Amino acid sequence: MIKYTLNCKNGHQFDSWFSDSESFEKLKKKGHLECAICSSKEVEKSLMAPRITSDSERKNKTLISAQSALEKEIRALKKKIKTTAIDVGENFPTEARAMHYGEKEEKPIFGKTTMDEAKDLADEGIPFIPLPWSDDKVN
Ligand SMILES: [Zn+2]
Repeated sequence: MIKYTLNCKNGHQFDSWFSDSESFEKLKKKGHLECAICSSKEVEKSLMAPRITSDSERKNKTLISAQSALEKEIRALKKKIKTTAIDVGENFPTEARAMHYGEKEEKPIFGKTTMDEAKDLADEGIPFIPLPWSDDKVN
């Protein structure tokens, strides 16, 4: 059951119960709705409370779906990295540097580094991308 606050064209306001949101429209179309005070059949749902509730519900749903799309993308990216790149763990700065200076064969790697080390790598022109998740969760 849904309670709607209804307004008639003469400005009367009254509450009425409906089995669902469609039954209001059905009853109105058939002329079965009328003002409790003046019997006018020109009755509209009040735009007050119900409108606010459904808007905030819609916003929440949009947020949730955007979040799960991002999580899906990150999961796909994790999977791709796990299958194509080698986990060098804490040795990431050493390995990245060795490959950059031609001491080691170039291959895709991933691993951990500190902010300071990452800054040094960037200063030396060594290409890397920060992963959009916490390092512990790569595996
Ligand atoms: Zn009325």
